[in-house]
Amino acid sequence: MARQSDPATPDPARLDAADPLARFRGRFALPDGVIYLDGNSLGALPRATAARVARVVEEEWGRDLIGGWTRHGWIDLPLRLGDKVARLIGAAPGEVAVADSTSVNLFKLLAGALRLRPGRRVILSERDNFPTDLYIAEGLAALLGGGHAVRLVETDEIAGAIDGETAVVLLTHVNYRTGRMHDMAALTRAAHEAGALMLWDLAHSAGALPVALGACDADLAVGCGYKYLNGGPGAPAFLYVARRLQEGFRSPLAGWLGHAAPFAFETGYRPGGGIARALAGTPPILSMAALEVGVDLALEADIGAVRAKSMALGELFRERVEAGCAGMGVTLASPRDPDQRGSQICFAHAEGYAVVQALIARGVIGDFRAPDIMRFGFAPLYLRYADVVQAAEALREVLATRAWDRPEFKTRAAVT
Ligand SMILES: *Cc1c(COP(=O)(O)O)cnc(C)c1O
Repeated sequence: MARQSDPATPDPARLDAADPLARFRGRFALPDGVIYLDGNSLGALPRATAARVARVVEEEWGRDLIGGWTRHGWIDLPLRLGDKVARLIGAAPGEVAVADSTSVNLFKLLAGALRLRPGRRVILSERDNFPTDLYIAEGLAALLGGGHAVRLVETDEIAGAIDGETAVVLLTHVNYRTGRMHDMAALTRAAHEAGALMLWDLAHSAGALPVALGACDADLAVGCGYKYLNGGPGAPAFLYVARRLQEGFRSPLAGWLGHAAPFAFETGYRPGGGIARALAGTPPILSMAALEVGVDLALEADIGAVRAKSMALGELFRERVEAGCAGMGVTLASPRDPDQRGSQICFAHAEGYAVVQALIARGVIGDFRAPDIMRFGFAPLYLRYADVVQAAEALREVLATRAWDRPEFKTRAAVT
């Protein structure tokens, strides 16, 4: 057994004691006995959320009724919260709105992108992109019916596949399955050199690592509120339209709250100014109040420290799993270089589903992505180094004892 003083096997307790983000763990309500490695799928509950939502329900809605829209600034919440999210993703005030779901925002921005590039009919993406991104693109192309097409290529072929037909390149910054991270600056440049627009999906980036949409000159982006932003199940998503494109941008969902004067109740649609034109309908205030708590927490943490800890947690987990589970049929399915990963590590195993279920039964919550990927996410605000070491040990034990080999661990649930 390696000595604790060996620099290759750092002592997790010492790492936790020296962790500049350690104080954030107490800001989350985590159940006892659980090691939560699924914050990349549904973030944990901030302690302040319940009271905040209760206050909005009881004091704002309950007492002020319709007056809440102005008295409590509900009507401004999509853009006010958008400005906060902008700080997390390297965007400027007025470039981000919080609204709808990621899927719906993808639809709005893809349609807007095609309109900004008339004559070009191709949405280019990668085969390995998250399915909803591809489904939405397909559905939009079919709806337009004008010879629009979704072209899918392999990951290493993307830059070379952008051409004069490409209206928009649609990519997820950090791959949902493998955690592999794209070079945002280089691919955005490649899209622009071919005259195409670049749309980034930040579902697995926002709140987990520094994103520099402005510095990369990105055109459009969407992202998720319930993953690393800890906004709660089904939290509203966000969208970004670079200021320089807003004047020409039109949403295909021309709802009244994207109108220049919603309360003038005009018969015809006139797009609102700036990012407001990307809004459609009435914002879900209770959900936005919950999301604001998560976004405020993310803003409180230094994102450089978040990224450094995320990489250290990932490396610690990878090292412990590769050392402890050698010869047990586990192979790394994420890039080995932490600079090329987001905040998750995946391992492939032929019985991955059952192994993950056996881990969950022991309180180590990861998830499974077909066909054989065991996915472990590292949310640096509430995970400790000791958790990661314990999780790797649990994985070793489950594999060594074949604890996964039970019928109840092999029956697939609706949500994996
Ligand atoms: C989680 C995720 C989504 C989620 O979309 P919803 O509309 O919120 O269901 C979209 N894209 C990617 C890449 C994701 O990881």
